[in-house]
Amino acid sequence: PVILAIESSCDDTSAAVCVDGAVLSNVIANQAIHEAYGGVVPELASRVHQQNIVPAVQQALLNAKVNKNDIDAVAFTRGPGLLGSLLVGVSFAKAFALANNLPLIEINHMQAHVLAHFIADKKPSFPFLCLTVSGGHTQIVLVKDYFNMEVIGQTLDDAAGEAMDKTSKILGLPYPGGPLIDKYARLGNADRFKFPEPQIPGFDYSFSGLKTSILYFIRDNVAANPNFIQDNLNDICASVEKRIVTILLNKFEKAARQYGIKDVALAGGVSANTGLRLGLQQLAEKNGWNYFIPAMQYCTDNAGMIAIAGYHKYLKGDFAGQDIAPLARMPL
Ligand code: ATP
Ligand code: FE
Repeated sequence: PVILAIESSCDDTSAAVCVDGAVLSNVIANQAIHEAYGGVVPELASRVHQQNIVPAVQQALLNAKVNKNDIDAVAFTRGPGLLGSLLVGVSFAKAFALANNLPLIEINHMQAHVLAHFIADKKPSFPFLCLTVSGGHTQIVLVKDYFNMEVIGQTLDDAAGEAMDKTSKILGLPYPGGPLIDKYARLGNADRFKFPEPQIPGFDYSFSGLKTSILYFIRDNVAANPNFIQDNLNDICASVEKRIVTILLNKFEKAARQYGIKDVALAGGVSANTGLRLGLQQLAEKNGWNYFIPAMQYCTDNAGMIAIAGYHKYLKGDFAGQDIAPLARMPL
C-alpha cells in the first residue's frame, strides 16, 4: 500500500510517503518563528502549519515520485500535542481522504516515535525496551508488539528535552537548546562540574531538581564572575549533558535487566544527542544487548514515523472514521 502521512503535533509541519513499508520521502518544515520567543508559541505554530501543510505534502509526493491517485490511505497524528497544531493536520488529512475517497488511519505520536525503529533495515525484535526522550515525554516503554506498549517508568515532572531546553535558556542560548548543548558539550570537560542525581523509586524520573540546581549554580557563579557562562560554556554543557544522560541510562539499565530484555532502543528528539547515543551503545555492548537508534531525521518530529506506523495499522485494517477529532492528551 501507498500511505500518505501527516505530522503537525508541535512546531514541525511534516509529510511523508511510505510504499509497502519503505519510507520514500520525509519532508519537514521547521518553524523558525519560535526562536525569538524562547519556546513554542501555540497560536503561531497553528498559523504556520496552515501555511506549510500543502507545500509539504506536495513536496513529499514529488520526492517519493508518487502520484496523488496512487495513495491508498492517509495516516495522521491524532495526539498528544498542541490542540491547535493537531487540528491543522487532522483537518487536512480528513479533507484529503474525503476528496479522494480514501480511508483514514489515526496515529498516536508517542507510539510513532517508538515505531520509527521499523523504518530502518535493522529492526528490533519484540519485546524490546525503548527509552523515549522528547520535548514533552520521558518514558521507559516495554514494546510487546507494534501497538501493544506499556510505560514502565516515566518522568514525574519535566521531560529530558525540557531539561535540555531550560538549561540552555538559563545559559542565554536560543530555543531549542538541546542541539546547542550537544554542540558545546562535545568541546567541554564533562567531569568539571557536578550536578545531583535524583533519588526516585522504581523506574520513574525527575528533572525539576536538576533544573533548580543548575539555576542556582549559574546564579551564584555569575554573581562572583559576570563572565562565568562565556568562560565555561563548553564545560557547563558537557557536565549537564553527562548528568542528564547518566540519570536516563542508569534507570534504563535497571529496567532492561529486570525485564530480561535483549534489544534496547532510543526514540524521540533527545535521542539525537551525541552523548546519549554513545552512552546507550556502551551500555548495550557492556550487557551484550542489541541496540537501536533511529537515523537523525526520524528522532525529532517527522511524518516518516507516522507513515511507518500507518503502514502497520493498514495491514491490521484498523481505520478511523471521518468524525475523528484530535486529542491534546493521549495515553500510549
Ligand atoms: P513530544 O514528542 O513529547 O510531544 P516534541 O515532539 O516537541 O515532544 P521532539 O521533537 O521529539 O519533541 O524532541 C524535541 C526535543 O529534543 C527538544 O527538547 C530538543 O531540545 C531536543 N533535542 C533535539 N536535538 C537534540 C540534541 N542533539 N541533544 C539534546 N537534545 C536534543
Ligand atoms: Fe515528538
